Amino acid sequence: MDMSTLLIRSRRVVLPDGVTEAAVFVRDHRIEAIGDYDLRRDADRAVDLGDLPLLPGVVDSHVHVNEPGRTEWEGFATATRAALAGGVTTICDMPLNSSPVTTTVDALRAKVSAAAGQCAVDVAFWGGAVPGNVSEFAGLLEAGVLGFKCFLIDSGIAEFPPLSREELRSAMAALAESGAAMVVHAEDPSQVTTPANGSYDAFVASRPPVAERRAIETVISAAAFSGARAHIVHLAAGECAALISAAKAAGIALSAETCPHYLSFAAEEVPPGRTEFKCCPPIRYAVNREALWRALGDGAIDGVVSDHSPCSPSLKGLGQPDGDFRTAWGGISSLQLGLSAVWSVARRRGFSLADVSRWMSAFPASLAGLPTKGRIAVGGDADFAAFDPDASWTVRGAELLHRHSLTPYEGRTLTGRVTRVWLGGDEVTPSDPPRGRLLARGGGPLGG
Ligand SMILES: [Zn+2]
Repeated sequence: MDMSTLLIRSRRVVLPDGVTEAAVFVRDHRIEAIGDYDLRRDADRAVDLGDLPLLPGVVDSHVHVNEPGRTEWEGFATATRAALAGGVTTICDMPLNSSPVTTTVDALRAKVSAAAGQCAVDVAFWGGAVPGNVSEFAGLLEAGVLGFKCFLIDSGIAEFPPLSREELRSAMAALAESGAAMVVHAEDPSQVTTPANGSYDAFVASRPPVAERRAIETVISAAAFSGARAHIVHLAAGECAALISAAKAAGIALSAETCPHYLSFAAEEVPPGRTEFKCCPPIRYAVNREALWRALGDGAIDGVVSDHSPCSPSLKGLGQPDGDFRTAWGGISSLQLGLSAVWSVARRRGFSLADVSRWMSAFPASLAGLPTKGRIAVGGDADFAAFDPDASWTVRGAELLHRHSLTPYEGRTLTGRVTRVWLGGDEVTPSDPPRGRLLARGGGPLGG
C-alpha cells in the first residue's frame, strides 16, 4: 500500500530556519514542496496536524545494535521498532558490540545480511578502526560505511582494541581525502585508574574529566595533522567545551556530541547499586551537567545522540543486593526515549524545538554524510515525527520496545511525546511490517 503523494499541514513545522506554519508536499517518498499552510495540492492523502508540531525524524548517529553475535543484548528488529516509537527515523549502527565487529568488508556484509528485512527505520553503518586495519578503509567506504569509529582506551571488547596516538594519526590521514569522519571514544587510559570500591562515586573518580581532556587533545592534534574530520562521541566532561571551541575557532574540522543521560542525570542522584546508570565516560556531577547545557547553547557541542548500548540484564550485575560499578557492563539503554528526555529539560531551559531538532536531526545527519536526512527541506526524504510538546508521561521500561526493559529513566516523568511517524512519506507504526532501508554514506542504497 504505497501512497505516492502526501500533504501534511501543521501550525508548527520545524524547518531549518525556525518553527513556522506550513504545508509539506511529498511525492514518491521525497519532499517536493514546502508552502504556506493553505497550500493547495492534489494529494492521495492529506493530514492536518493543527497545532501539533511536525519535526524532521530524529537521526540517531550513535546506536549499538549488537547483531549479529550479541543479538541477545539488542537486535535490528527490536532496536528499530523502539527507534520508530521514539520518532527516530534513521539510526547509524556502531561497529561494536556485534560479532564480528565491523572492521572488514566481510564483517560489514555479515551485518548487512543480519539487518536486511528486519528494520523498521532506515539504518546506516559506521566502520571500525582498529590497529592494523587501515588497508580495509577503502573497501569499507566503497561498500558504504559512513566513516569510522575508534577508541583511545580499552573498548571492553577484545576484538576491538584501541588505537595509539600514532595509529590514530595514520588512520585519520588515510581518511582525509574521503571527507568521512573519524568518530572517537575519547578517554586517555593514562588518566584512568581502578575504582577503590564498587560505589558510584569511586567509579566516577576513576574516570575523571582530565581523561577526556587529554584524549581530546590527542584527537585535535591528529585532526590538525591529517586534515580529516574528527568527532568526539559522548562528551561527558563539560569543562572540555572550551578546548573544543578553541579547536573549531582555529579551523580544525572537529565536532562533538553529548547524550541525553549526561543532560538528564547527575552523579549525586544515582541511587546506590543502580548499575543501569553505568556508562563510560560516567555521568558526572550536577555542576558538569550545567556546563554541558551551556556548551550546547553556545555551539561548542553540536549534537545529542543516544549512545544506546544495552546488554543482557545479568551483565549489569543485577540480582545482587547492590550492583557493583566495577564489574557491571557499561552502557545506557535509551533509544526510544532520547527526544522526550532532551526536550523535557531543554524546554525548561528556554531552548526551542528548532534547537532540539538541530542537535538531534540535522547535525547527526551531516556528521554521518546523509544529506537527505535530518531536515524538512525540498529534496529531502519525507521522514517526520508529530510531537506533542506538552504531553507528560512516566517511563515504564517494560512498555518500551527495546529488547530489554532496564533503563535509568525507569519511573521518570518526561514531557513531550511522539504521536505519529512517517518514513519516506508513509505513516508507520512499530507493529507494521518493517520497511526501513539500508543506506550508504551519501544516502543511496547500501550495496553491501
Ligand atoms: Zn557508544
